[in-house]
Amino acid sequence: IENERKFFVYREYSDAIVQAGGIPYFLPLVEKSEIVRDMARKMDGLLLTGGGDVNPLLFGEEPIPGLGEVTPKRDEEELELIRTCYEEKKPIFGICRGCQVLNVFMGGDLFQDLKEQKKSVLQHSQDAPRHHPSHSIRIKPDSTLFKITEKTIIRVNSFHHQAARSVVSPLHVSATSSDGVIEAIEGGDENHFIMGVQWHPERMFDRCEDARNLFTYFVKRLLGEEIGT
Ligand code: MN
Repeated sequence: IENERKFFVYREYSDAIVQAGGIPYFLPLVEKSEIVRDMARKMDGLLLTGGGDVNPLLFGEEPIPGLGEVTPKRDEEELELIRTCYEEKKPIFGICRGCQVLNVFMGGDLFQDLKEQKKSVLQHSQDAPRHHPSHSIRIKPDSTLFKITEKTIIRVNSFHHQAARSVVSPLHVSATSSDGVIEAIEGGDENHFIMGVQWHPERMFDRCEDARNLFTYFVKRLLGEEIGT
């Protein structure tokens, strides 16, 4: 979350990476794309954090009234980071906004504002503690997300008013909420981990095994460790 002069990131992201056995680094906003690419080359993988809205021009749309604050330079940098990590087959894990940026990178688009653009949606901007699992999601049994959670239904927290709308190959939908909103996407293959989740597992880390398992799996893939069944 930033206004392009001052940035902050909630520490739960780095805490979760540390607790899962990884070494976290925060990246600054840098406008030179060759430096952004060099930063990406030095990392084992990429965790895309939550934040404001994605610029709709990136998926060919004009802004609608319900669009929130956009940060075009952050969009650009994150797309460049994803591009480099994708080319180099480094693990990519997107959370909330990160899931949306990942979807846009692959050629998909977004609901700019769920309430304005989709009929009869659940409450996806919960008014409850950040760790509270407010709505359920259904996980596809053939997905990596299922492999990680070993469950077809889990409960998640929810702090988003945007979401993936169309999802383009190599990404596919791996979980939805009961209103049909896309809550998780994934792509890649055995050798390349690419996942986006619309909820905030880092906020549930201490209280939810599924959240811990997600980070542990991501860090194992970062470190190139063997994944058990
Ligand atoms: Mn949600």
